Amino acid sequence: MTAEPTGPGPRVAVVGAGLAGSLLAILLGRRGLAVTVYERRPDPRATGAERGRSINLALSARGLAALDAVGLRELALEQALPMRGRMVHPAGGGHNFQPYSAGGERAIHSISRAGLNAALLDTAEATPGVTLRFGARVTGVDTGDDGTGAGRLLLEGGATELAGVVLACDGAYSAMRRALRPDGGFEAGQDFLEHGYKELTIPPRDGDFALDPGALHIWPRGTAMMIALPNVDRSFTCTLFWPKEEFEALDAPARVRGHFRAAYPDAAALIPDLAEDFARNPVGSLVTVRSRPWVREGDGAVVALLGDAAHAIVPFFGQGANCAFEDCLEIDRCLTETGGDWSRALPMYQERRTANTDAIAEMALDNFVEMRDRVASPVYRARTAAQHALERRLPGRYVSRYELVSFSTLPYAEIPARIRRQNRILAGAAAAGGLLVAAGLLAARQRRSATRS
Ligand SMILES: Cc1cc2nc3c(=O)[nH]c(=O)nc-3n(C[C@H](O)[C@H](O)[C@H](O)COP(=O)(O)OP(=O)(O)OC[C@H]3O[C@@H](n4cnc5c(N)ncnc54)[C@H](O)[C@@H]3O)c2cc1C
Repeated sequence: MTAEPTGPGPRVAVVGAGLAGSLLAILLGRRGLAVTVYERRPDPRATGAERGRSINLALSARGLAALDAVGLRELALEQALPMRGRMVHPAGGGHNFQPYSAGGERAIHSISRAGLNAALLDTAEATPGVTLRFGARVTGVDTGDDGTGAGRLLLEGGATELAGVVLACDGAYSAMRRALRPDGGFEAGQDFLEHGYKELTIPPRDGDFALDPGALHIWPRGTAMMIALPNVDRSFTCTLFWPKEEFEALDAPARVRGHFRAAYPDAAALIPDLAEDFARNPVGSLVTVRSRPWVREGDGAVVALLGDAAHAIVPFFGQGANCAFEDCLEIDRCLTETGGDWSRALPMYQERRTANTDAIAEMALDNFVEMRDRVASPVYRARTAAQHALERRLPGRYVSRYELVSFSTLPYAEIPARIRRQNRILAGAAAAGGLLVAAGLLAARQRRSATRS
């Protein structure tokens, strides 16, 4: 733990030392601010990763840009494995590789969540002004002036601490979000999918990867799917995304093995302790959080939500953490633009981010159907090949949605409109092409009849 905060300005509390909280603490510490990070868990670097969270995740351009801002991009890439496309394992057997970009060179990066979090915590801890407090669960906040000009953070056990700015990065089931609701009651803004997720491990085989480590593997099965991302220890972490009742139906080892032999035979052969792994690992929920407001200001403290606490999304575009990192950069930018005035910077952050996080929430839901169903169809493959051909012919002018989300930092909210514009131009070009073809045919017919007469 570093020394107590010493910087100028109000005491800043960051709630949650996950991916967003630890990155934000670094950015704020670098501004010379006094920041205390409150994390309910013990230090994960000492105790290991929490069970029931995704073991690894896909980092892409947005996340890497944010890590670059704190000098961690190269370290992250050293710990990650590039995945240059999808390896689709159809129900009928075999597999086919679908590159993410036209040239096949662009990659998303599979990285250990715990490793990334540890790198961020190490950097936060080494940043002057940042204090990390583990085993400190925050239960609420009192934004009124407590007589000292500041508000109070409420901690489990009844303790309270002074705070002028509270940045809530406490995840999808945020206690701070509930505390911001005037009635503290039911949240209409949480949409749970009927699908849950469960992780399994494909261990290394003969000391090497059991599958191609250069791809994100997908077993699309209509209403359900499994994916697998590689780890640096040469294992793969598989994630099952199934309707919850499908998990419940597999209530005996023989049923588990039987189902996998039927639906995922190639993967089943690579998981020696399949039934044990299945029974051991929990089923997690998949939630989209649509909450407003993200910012509330009282006489003593201003509070803002960010990351999953503000806008958790389903993981089918691999963007939740990438998007949470963008929030951190935006807060930092707004502080610069307002000369460090929190009362103006935080509403500005909310104003700039909500359309973007709404857009990626919708695209992530849509991508679930694409991954679990469409990627298996020959029509989808033909369409992707056509898109890549267009990307090569019209570089920078035709760019697929996947590229714009994963390989650019174009604001998410601009992507749907840009795709619609591209599609309109293409439809126009196709129609014009059709007219030209029709005109050509007509001219040829006229020439033939002129020759005959
Ligand atoms: C199955 C799955 C796969 C995913 N894959 C990807 C992917 O490939 N790419 C990607 O970009 N994103 C992915 N995500 C999303 C990503 O995990 C989240 O978007 C990201 O973790 C959000 O970071 P965060 O810091 O906002 O929240 P979290 O990472 O959840 O961190 C919240 C922190 O707050 C702490 N906390 C909670 N309550 C309190 C409290 N009351 N007091 C103090 N501390 C508290 C928690 O212990 C935790 O450390 C995936 C998510 C899931 C579920």
